[in-house]
Amino acid sequence: MPEKTLFELSSPGRQAWSLPKLDVPPIDAGESARKDNELPELSEVDVARHFTRLSVMNHHVDKGFYPLGSCTMKYNPKVNELACRMPGFTGLHPLEPESLTQGALRLMYELARMLEEITGFDAVSLEPAAGAHGELAGIMMIRKYFEKRGEQRDVVLVPDSAHGTNPASVTLSGFKPVQIKSNAKGEIDPDELERACSTCVACLMVTNPNTLGIFEPEAKRICDIMHKQGSLVYLDGANLNSYVGVHRPADAGFDVMHINLHKTFSTPHGGGGPGSGPVAVTKALEPLLPKPVVKRRNQGTRGSSGAEYYLDYSRPDSIGRVMGFHGQFAVLVRAYTYIRMLGAAGLKDAAENAVLNANYVRAGLEDIYDLPYKDRSLHEVVFSGSNLREHGVKTLDVAKRLLDYGMHAPTIYFPLIVPEALMIEPTETESRESLDEFIKAMKQIADEARTNPDILRRAPVTTPVRRLDEAKASRELDVNWGTKS
Ligand SMILES: *Cc1c(COP(=O)(O)O)cnc(C)c1O
Repeated sequence: MPEKTLFELSSPGRQAWSLPKLDVPPIDAGESARKDNELPELSEVDVARHFTRLSVMNHHVDKGFYPLGSCTMKYNPKVNELACRMPGFTGLHPLEPESLTQGALRLMYELARMLEEITGFDAVSLEPAAGAHGELAGIMMIRKYFEKRGEQRDVVLVPDSAHGTNPASVTLSGFKPVQIKSNAKGEIDPDELERACSTCVACLMVTNPNTLGIFEPEAKRICDIMHKQGSLVYLDGANLNSYVGVHRPADAGFDVMHINLHKTFSTPHGGGGPGSGPVAVTKALEPLLPKPVVKRRNQGTRGSSGAEYYLDYSRPDSIGRVMGFHGQFAVLVRAYTYIRMLGAAGLKDAAENAVLNANYVRAGLEDIYDLPYKDRSLHEVVFSGSNLREHGVKTLDVAKRLLDYGMHAPTIYFPLIVPEALMIEPTETESRESLDEFIKAMKQIADEARTNPDILRRAPVTTPVRRLDEAKASRELDVNWGTKS
């Protein structure tokens, strides 16, 4: 049975609240006010049960395995939630004066320093609200960098394996994206790059490890090729979880990167948010960072307001504001808590286990599914379901069938350079038992493709809703559904 909406469950006169008797005469707000405020009427237990039922219908990391490649859907430690729900944080208003927000500013200041230490960059802005937003801020800084130097550069190179947000950020910033073809191993070909790079190119966007989970072996040479033409190199840091504590990307020569706090440093982000995409830069780009930037006065000294930590708005070369207030603050608190809980050794451990887990899954499935790019992969592995086509089964069917096994599907049909792609990222938070269970399910599904392909084409058969038209909800959004009589 599909869950009814609150409007369908409503029963006139039921209420989940009780207020003291009025000590003033009641007034009638009028018919039109009543019509505008037609709310469902339910008791508290009805409301609690409705939302509890909904919460377990949906798949989430607290319910089961979630190997959604490129998204790093790791388990989110509950201590993060305790920290970001502390009343001192939740009761803050972003317009409160610095003298009353020293704790929050200090947390932001220290988090930025930790991210600098982790990445090797010279400065960090915590403002951007997601990875894609960090890309936009980073590319806008690159545009301003060349404007200030009086250089006319209008092209940004983007590999064909890149996430779709890369060319989108390039276009939104007024640049022209030009695609670079990957070589047979799925890597950027330095010779191809050499041919494509000229003084018209503002920058190259690199994802490392790339979206196949493969570490670009020539990262340093790639940066050198770009720098020789005066171009910059942008690093998409969405895959930082595979090398945090092991490698500092600034050492390879990158100029700008964004970090998806909601991937590498926990925070559950299934369902569209919230996220946070700090952007990290070298000294040359530091003056261009979005404003404000949290600064600290010389240790022990305080400004006239008594504040040691303050928001610096006097940044004449800044690209300006990119957020209404000061980043996604609750996500910053979660990332800060996560980093402080794990420490340097713990972060490195997490990265190593993320790589180990992905390679465990790879070894368990490489005889069953096609593996088009065979180089050693890091934190994720991209299979192809092409070998199931002969049974009339698509990767989409495999993904849908996994839901019947109680697991979230991997990312499918991305990266675009792999036909029928199945992009699996187990993350470090999964036990060996849960990986074994996933491998077993994927093997059974491959068996079903041979013996009972029909069940795959009809899957999922055990979920609250079956195969949905996935584009309809966004193209024909109907927010009044359920309120119509
Ligand atoms: C997730 C991801 C992005 C975009 O990040 P959001 O936080 O979802 O905006 C960009 N590039 C890659 C490789 C990603 O995996």
